[in-house]
Order: sequence, then C-alpha cells, then structure tokens
Amino acid sequence: MTSMLDLIHELWFLKRDIVSDGFDQALYRLAEEVPMTLHEVPSGEPCWTWRVPEKWTCHAAYLETLDGRRLLDYADHPLHVVSYSLPFDGEVTREELLRHLHVHPRLPEAIPFVFKYYERDWGLCVSQTLRDGLKDEAYRVVIRTTFEPGSLKVGEVVIPGQSDQAFVVVAHLCHPAMVNDDLSGVVVALEVARALGKHAGPPLQYTYRFLILPETIGSVAYLSRHEELIPKMAGGLFLEMLGNDSPHALQGSFQPDSQPDRCFNAALRSLDPQGYAGPYRTIIDNDERQFNAPGVRVPMLSLSRVQAPKASGLPPYPQYHSSLDTPEIVTQERLEASRDVVLGLIQAWERNQYVVNNFKGEIFCSGYGIWIDYRLNPEGHRRLFEIMERCDGSRTVADIAAELELSFQAAWEVVSLLEEKGLVSFSWIPV
Ligand SMILES: [Zn+2]
Repeated sequence: MTSMLDLIHELWFLKRDIVSDGFDQALYRLAEEVPMTLHEVPSGEPCWTWRVPEKWTCHAAYLETLDGRRLLDYADHPLHVVSYSLPFDGEVTREELLRHLHVHPRLPEAIPFVFKYYERDWGLCVSQTLRDGLKDEAYRVVIRTTFEPGSLKVGEVVIPGQSDQAFVVVAHLCHPAMVNDDLSGVVVALEVARALGKHAGPPLQYTYRFLILPETIGSVAYLSRHEELIPKMAGGLFLEMLGNDSPHALQGSFQPDSQPDRCFNAALRSLDPQGYAGPYRTIIDNDERQFNAPGVRVPMLSLSRVQAPKASGLPPYPQYHSSLDTPEIVTQERLEASRDVVLGLIQAWERNQYVVNNFKGEIFCSGYGIWIDYRLNPEGHRRLFEIMERCDGSRTVADIAAELELSFQAAWEVVSLLEEKGLVSFSWIPV
C-alpha cells in the first residue's frame, strides 16, 4: 500500500490532460491501489449538451531565437504548452508571439497552467521574467501536437452499504504536473475509500461511489451514462486542495437545507475548529457544479483548504494553477488530517438518522440517571433539555444540531445516550 505522498511523487509530473495517455497512465496506476471500475466514453460522443474531446498529445514544443538558442522546451515542463494547443511551426514576429504567450497573473517566476479545451488556438506558457526578456524582432515556434480519437476515462471505486442509496465522492485528476490542485484530492479520496473498505463496526448504511475523472466533462460523461443512478444519490462531496497549509473550507451545495449540508456543517465544527464554511459557489468551483445542476440536483458539497472565500480576491492558495504547485507545498501530515476530516464527515452522515421519541412528556431525567445539575453545569443542563424536546421523529441528528448551532458530535453524544437508555430510537425515515 503506497502512501498518499509517495503516490503524489510518482504521478504528479505526468501529462494528465483531460483525454490523454498521461491521464490514463495515472488512472491505471491508481487502479492498482484500490479495486476500480473503468468507464470509457469515446471521443466525439455526445454527453447531454457536451461532447467528449479528442485525445490530445504534445510530442514536442519549443521556442527559439532565430539563431537557434532554445528559450523554453516542453520536455522540461508539461505546463509550457497550453493544454489542447493547436500545432504550430514557423517564424513569428515578437508582437505575434506575445499574443500567444501566457504568463501567471501573480507569480513572475512561475509557468501558468492554461487550457483551451474548446476554443482552438496555439499557445505557450512562460514565466513573466522570460517574457520580459524577449527583445528580438522575431522568434521560431515549434508545437507538435496531435488530436485523434481516444476515450475519456472515469475510475469508480464502489464500497457497498446496506442501502442502494449512494453517497458520491468526486476528485479530478486532469491537472498536468501539479499537486495540490488536483492530485491531493485524488489521493485523499482513495485513502478514504480504502479506510471504508476495511471499516470495522456496524455495516455501512450508504453505498459509497468514489469517482476519479477529468474535470467537468468527466462528471457530465459519467452522469449522462448513469442517469438511472441519479435518483439514488443522496449526497456528495468534492475533494481537492487538501495538502496546503490552510484550515478546511466546506462549501455548501445548491440546496443549503439538505441533510448533507446540515450534517457536514455541524460536523465540521468539531472536526476542524479552525475550519470555515460558505454557501454554494462562494469558495471554489469544481465538479460539484455538475451534480448540483438542473436535472441532477444531487446536494454535493466541497471540501478543500482554500485560504479564503472568493470574495476576498485572494487565490485559493498562493501557488494555484502554476508550476510552483509541486510536492514541496503538501505534507503527508496534512493529507492525513484531511483524510480524517472526510472520514469524520462520513461517520456523522452514517449516524444522521431521524430521532424518534419512545417517551411522552418531558423525560424524568433523574429516574434515568441523565440529570445534569443546572447549578454545576447550566450550559449542559440547558442543552440536554433543548435536545430532548426536539427528539420527535421529524428531526434528524443534523436538524437538531443545526437548530441549536451545535456540532454534530455534541448532539450525537446526547441522543446516543438517550438511545442507550431506550428513550429514543433511530429511523432512516421521518416517523
Ligand atoms: Zn484547477
């Protein structure tokens, strides 16, 4: 069993463009770690309003002065060529070259990640420093890329539960030569799948589907090919940016009152006290958009370590979408902490049943040994009563925690004690 960080070191520099040999190679390697089903959709196939792109390969690319001095080479870094760039071979004026040369908006020494999957153009990516040094009248550009029929691939790991109601965990794998976005989410997802697979204790209620795919088109391809599963998707979580040094950020789904939203928001309070939450589309946009969209409407949240919500104007993390997003900015410790947060969220989700009262009236607490003395612990006393009066068969544990602005775990402690005493029971449907 390879550690998350070792997998990152092994796979990060592959040219994992959306439909490419590098993407397939990374997915096949991951399939050696966890039993995985591979779904394939051929290039050109319609998927709802989309179409699967061709396989793209960059065989070689470089920029040279007219006297043959090489200024950049694709062989040195996969980010030097715009993902899905058209081929090009010729002399260009400095002016024309600059129109096709992309630099990072904030990091002068970094190569930016630029993709043009659906608007055809040629392009190279360089550091601001290199671009500023271009003083010649003309340059020679060579980009040898090919577009050919291939197949988009989605890896699926299924951990079966007692119910066919599914919980979906998604991570994308299509960011060439970068780590935090997006390989970190992939390795954490697979580590969570492994942990659930070995899980001891009560059997899982939900069936868990882990999807590893190219961003956006991979989700659309999977969903459009598995429409029959959509009504059975009770919720989901998208994962990425889990190795950098920021607290966890939980982004809500399109349906902020859904059970996954209530459950995860309440659970995060104790899983990462420094963590923060924000509404749909306010922290980071990814594949959860496809699951939350019209005609699908699966409440899918997202977990990342984005440093601040979008409105702050800050990037998700300093090295975002650049050649500085390397294994150096992630640690095994932070990946493991994120894995534990995801497992904690799933544990809460598995416990999130309706709490049904087997009692009438107010419980005679002293008689059951659960009395909390209000003189010694006024807060505990108040909480116990606030929770007990909400145990009425119409509220889940998450509903109770949300109403009282408690952590899921704090509400769970009380209701599981009541259950031990036979005062309440749990039900997957309202009673
Ligand atoms: Zn990205």
